[in-house]
Amino acid sequence: MKVLKIDHLGIAVHSIEEAKKLFQDTLGLKFEGSETVAEQKVTTAFFPVGDSEVELLESTAPDGPIAKYLEKRGEGIQHIAFRVENIEEALAELKEKGIRLIDEKPRLGAGGAKIAFLHPKSTHGVLIEISERED
Ligand code: ZN
Repeated sequence: MKVLKIDHLGIAVHSIEEAKKLFQDTLGLKFEGSETVAEQKVTTAFFPVGDSEVELLESTAPDGPIAKYLEKRGEGIQHIAFRVENIEEALAELKEKGIRLIDEKPRLGAGGAKIAFLHPKSTHGVLIEISERED
């Protein structure tokens, strides 16, 4: 498999509106718009930084994965996403190497990317997302 770059850092926040004040107004990053991924009960907001992006994650429901994360750990970096050349190939290879997969098959993420998560128990406690998308 080939990892091309850090695609984005996913940061769980209570409110994108509130967090925008830091990332847009204070740090001066460009806000690229938000998108709700209903299946994941999350609204995402992207701020490009160089070749990568910051992704803010706000829950849309009290039982969503981000709501649960915030309850347990509070706001902070929730996952790191690596862009790969071919996600199906990457998943097959990782599985063969004994990495626990949360998603055996890619699913659709924000921006039409194909994404899959690896289990933090297999990755030194870091929730890793791998993603494949056209720029
Ligand atoms: Zn992500």
